[in-house]
Amino acid sequence: MRRKLAAGNWKMHGLAADLAEAEALSKAHPAPRCEVLICPPATLLARLADTLSGGTVAVGGQDCHTAAKGAHTGDVSAVMLADAGATHVIVGHSERRADHAETDAAIAAKAASAHAAGLTAIICLGETEAQRDAGETLAVVAAQLAGSLPEGATAANTVIAYEPVWAIGTGRTPTIDQIAEVHTALRTHLRSALPAEGDGIRLLYGGSVKPANAAEIFAVADVDGALVGGASLKAADFGAIIAAL
Ligand code: PGA
Repeated sequence: MRRKLAAGNWKMHGLAADLAEAEALSKAHPAPRCEVLICPPATLLARLADTLSGGTVAVGGQDCHTAAKGAHTGDVSAVMLADAGATHVIVGHSERRADHAETDAAIAAKAASAHAAGLTAIICLGETEAQRDAGETLAVVAAQLAGSLPEGATAANTVIAYEPVWAIGTGRTPTIDQIAEVHTALRTHLRSALPAEGDGIRLLYGGSVKPANAAEIFAVADVDGALVGGASLKAADFGAIIAAL
């Protein structure tokens, strides 16, 4: 049985005053049925980990460098995230693929460095609207999965998040059938790429998940949780999504 995961991605949102939202969420859900994770901006990570220590909400980074340390001004390594209290890190989010020209190979290297630091890597992939319109969705996500999965990926250290680029922050979501089609395909690829682990790796859906659509998305076979952006910023909204899992 794959334990469901509700992961919040705060992106470049959140100041010290917003730690209270995470604290409120943690207090409101002392024993959630699913695993709960918040990935704040790097500036808040250590304080958030302190705020949430002793509770059930985990803390993660939003990106990491491929190296553990070195002359890389402005970057943060997986070792540093772990040292600050993180247990997870998102890699390959479409905003990083677009804004920083991250390739599948770079993302696989980031995931490998996360694993080396003892972190669970949440590897993101998903098609653009043009790719969907061209009928390329399944080929695109298969290639991204093959290229972004590092050696040594296991059910314990790796989570895959399917996030159609056109659904992120837009309020638009794929149909339930479209989500099911991609998740089924990803599961098939995982099973063949990693016979011992592929069945246990969790597959999250992300892109405009909100309280109003969470339950129907979570009912889809092979949807093992969600990566939530905008709706993870408020304890009430993220709490409602957690309650739907
Ligand atoms: P959204 O973002 O929930 O605001 O659409 C999801 C994500 O980018 O992870």
